[in-house]
Amino acid sequence: MATIPGLLRSRRPSVSFEFFPPKDDEGEAALWEAIRRLERVRPDFVSVTYGAGGSTQDRTIRVTERIAAETTLTPLAHLTCVGASVAQLRQVIGAYAASGVSNILALRGDPPGNVRGAWTPHPEGLDHADQLVALIRSLGDFTIGVAAFPDVHPDSPSLEHDVEVLVRKADAGASFAVTQMVFDADRYLRLRDLVAARRDLPITPGLMPVTNLRQITRMSELMGTPLPESVVSRLEAVGEDASAVREVGVRIATELAERMLAEGAPGLHFITMNRSTATLEVYDNLALDVSS
Ligand SMILES: Cc1cc2nc3c(=O)[nH]c(=O)nc-3n(C[C@H](O)[C@H](O)[C@H](O)COP(=O)(O)OP(=O)(O)OC[C@H]3O[C@@H](n4cnc5c(N)ncnc54)[C@H](O)[C@@H]3O)c2cc1C
Repeated sequence: MATIPGLLRSRRPSVSFEFFPPKDDEGEAALWEAIRRLERVRPDFVSVTYGAGGSTQDRTIRVTERIAAETTLTPLAHLTCVGASVAQLRQVIGAYAASGVSNILALRGDPPGNVRGAWTPHPEGLDHADQLVALIRSLGDFTIGVAAFPDVHPDSPSLEHDVEVLVRKADAGASFAVTQMVFDADRYLRLRDLVAARRDLPITPGLMPVTNLRQITRMSELMGTPLPESVVSRLEAVGEDASAVREVGVRIATELAERMLAEGAPGLHFITMNRSTATLEVYDNLALDVSS
């Protein structure tokens, strides 16, 4: 079977979907409905984010293992260094291997409680994602992805530093990267090109069709990445009309996707928020040829 980096290097664009672990039974039902509806597109992989606390981390592991066991989909498990000793990280990685999950997105994570607070590693843990990449690599035959930030990571001094960090992650054993959600195609292309000049590390843009302006404004503040004025003004122009916001959000995501694919992006990683409709609308608009 083709690996994720292999698929990202193939001629056709890859498509992947990101979910988060649901909090309760109702959320779990919505997630599985979205997974079943999105499965028809035959995505190259689907990923499940990793929370900051023990119970949400357990849910990530459970959902990821269930995807591996009960669907036709290839799971990519997110894993962070937050609140974990190296021994605990080894255990999680071992559990993934035992349940057939061999693709891991290696992340540092953010300080729990205040994502923009100062980062303090676990006393027996890891400080940066490149160390987690190296740990996973040392434990078995995993395919390892990492995070990339077209708008520059909020704690990073510069774009050049971010490029160095990606080079370090590649050298530690990462074979692809997925970006934070993109709203400015030029910034994605700028980072992609700077990294491509140094390493062969396919970078897939994250794409989130906006369906709610307040939600996306809050998310972009938490992530420390600004929403471009052009995006905000198009969404604000339709005011509180929920279906019009959705329509504009889908249009913006479609335009961004078309531009990035035309410029050679290896695929699209949809941040679904555990819903399928807007993502499927963008997917259908693109009329991708995924046959080869
Ligand atoms: C696609 C994607 C998926 C994500 N999924 C999750 C998730 O599931 N759960 C979650 O909690 N968070 C998730 N995040 C958020 C991510 O954990 C945070 O953005 C975090 O602040 C950075 O993670 P990182 O892996 O890039 O860390 P790092 O690569 O460790 O970078 C963190 C900071 O340290 C700097 N740095 C990195 N390496 C070094 C080094 N060796 N020496 C000095 N400085 C260094 C970087 O410039 C950056 O400023 C995701 C982000 C993305 C883009």
